[in-house]
Amino acid sequence: MSKTLIMIKPDAVKNKHVGDIIARIEKEGFKILGMKYLQLSMEDAKQFYKVHAARPFYNDLCKYMSSGPIVAAALERENAVAHWREVIGATDPKEAKPGTIRALYAESKEANAVHGSDSDENAELEISFFFKGYELVP
Ligand code: UDP
Ligand code: MG
Repeated sequence: MSKTLIMIKPDAVKNKHVGDIIARIEKEGFKILGMKYLQLSMEDAKQFYKVHAARPFYNDLCKYMSSGPIVAAALERENAVAHWREVIGATDPKEAKPGTIRALYAESKEANAVHGSDSDENAELEISFFFKGYELVP
């Protein structure tokens, strides 16, 4: 078993896809260890995405990610990182396979409905960004 950190991004919350995405999480066999609804500040978003600080899209991404409420969740499953990334599809919804969450719900390459950690190591870091130990139910 391994873990991943996912976010339902501001566009998907605004477009009322939270229920559909949580249903998909359950259908895909993930166990929910922790889940919260919150709005990031610009500073929080910059901290979360600091690995992308040198990328040209960084500032706009952080502005967008702090523009409205999100859902953050820590999930567990066999192969959690890779499986979630398969379920969400490519970063750009135009390139995402049919049936993936981004193909179904994303607005654009930036406002692309969901986040998923890219490695087990980053999953641990990202989970600890959002959750204290006692907020994770094993
Ligand atoms: N992003 C963007 N423009 C780009 C690439 C990425 O706005 O050209 C945003 C998008 O919201 C993406 C996030 O930055 O989900 C993080 O980028 P990454 O390459 O890590 O994509 P992901 O792992 O989310 O598929
Ligand atoms: Mg990424």
